Amino acid sequence: MQTAIYPGSFDPVTLGHYDIIKRSSEIFDRVIVGVLRNSAKSPLFSVEERVKMLEDVTKGLPNVEVQSFHGLLIDFVRQNQARVIVRGLRAITDFEYELQLAQMNRVIAPEIDTVFLTTNLKYAYLSSSTAKEVAMYGGDTSAFLDPGVAEKVRNKYMAVNK
Ligand code: ADP
Repeated sequence: MQTAIYPGSFDPVTLGHYDIIKRSSEIFDRVIVGVLRNSAKSPLFSVEERVKMLEDVTKGLPNVEVQSFHGLLIDFVRQNQARVIVRGLRAITDFEYELQLAQMNRVIAPEIDTVFLTTNLKYAYLSSSTAKEVAMYGGDTSAFLDPGVAEKVRNKYMAVNK
């Protein structure tokens, strides 16, 4: 049984993330999406909100589960008896950071491998921050976000701007 961990901030989950989750779920027996609790970035959504949105969008994928974690990714991977970390690569700009992270993790935990899935070209430009920016100014986010997630982003900005 091969378990893979897909870690990230998911603030919020985008269609680009979903694409990586779905493709991973077709490769691995079990995929755990790990939502990072102690992100240095100050997130728009709480960890609980981010987990809930991910659970909603992945409910049609039976071998995917969502958990939050804090501390070292490697510890989270080991706790779940996984040997694979999945990361998505959009552009060359992602590469340097991702390579550094993967190599560091490999020094700490040589038994764990990082697997990169290249983005679906449809989502190559897409990040949580750009999707949030469009939503913040009232733009149409249907090409970037699941409708339920888009609504939560709109409500969040309405509350913030009140
Ligand atoms: P982090 O803060 O750890 O980078 P993100 O939530 O921004 O977390 O992203 C999680 C992972 O998903 C990263 O590997 C990132 O490169 C990847 N990713 C983000 N957006 C996309 C996308 N549009 N297509 C493919 N992969 C993506």
